[in-house]
Amino acid sequence: MWSYQHQHFTVHQLPVLRDNYIYLIEVHQSNTLIAIDPAEAVAVQHACKALNKKLTHIFNTHHHWDHTDGNLTLKNDFNCLIVGAQNDAERIPGIDQLVSESEITDISGISLQVLDMPGHTSGHIAFVIDDALFCGDTLFGAGCGRLFEGTPAQMWASLCKLGKLKADTKIYCAHEYTMANLDFARTIDSNNDSLLKRLQHDGDLRKQEQPTIPSCIATELATNPFFRPLDSSFCLNYATEHHLPHHDELSIFTDIRLRRNQW
Ligand code: ZN
Ligand code: FE
Repeated sequence: MWSYQHQHFTVHQLPVLRDNYIYLIEVHQSNTLIAIDPAEAVAVQHACKALNKKLTHIFNTHHHWDHTDGNLTLKNDFNCLIVGAQNDAERIPGIDQLVSESEITDISGISLQVLDMPGHTSGHIAFVIDDALFCGDTLFGAGCGRLFEGTPAQMWASLCKLGKLKADTKIYCAHEYTMANLDFARTIDSNNDSLLKRLQHDGDLRKQEQPTIPSCIATELATNPFFRPLDSSFCLNYATEHHLPHHDELSIFTDIRLRRNQW
């Protein structure tokens, strides 16, 4: 378990399954303890014991099993409140509180913002708490989620929303996919010095069995191939190199996403 201090809370990162992360948000000066996307119950039960705290909330970013499988066991153990997307109420096990893009004010000790993030799934949401973003399978280290239910235009709009968050916002995504994503990024963005530096830096972290997550918005804007379409000269070069008829942001994003699927 790794822990990161924020002003009003601490984020604990639990590696589970093959490459998932569950996050526990321990709010300072209250008993609030929130699990984000509990892929399984056991790791959360152990962490609660170690922290000597009871789980009060579960937040789900989307309905996939590797984000919700712990819901019912943990609810049974702790009688915690499960918060998830209104659009996904039927697909989130044990859901109590339905949210959509808005401010939630009734979580003690923290101010929480919900963002609708259609793309990976139609009901995907993200949670922003101060300078911490919990984005599930929408944005990854140097990557983005596959489009299982959404269109490229929806995913591009969702990513653009995240790109406008404060540059130092920490990104707590649900999978450790960064190295594979960086290897792909290098194939389409080889002249990007920030990308090459990140490959070295994150590669060193993985060799020491350390997470590359959290990342931050500034790092993703500079190196994530799915944010690179925001740079018009990148788009122009990309379109020329790959003989594409259009070089607008969405066309380039769509092509990169397709290329990543086939890679
Ligand atoms: Zn997913
Ligand atoms: Fe997932």
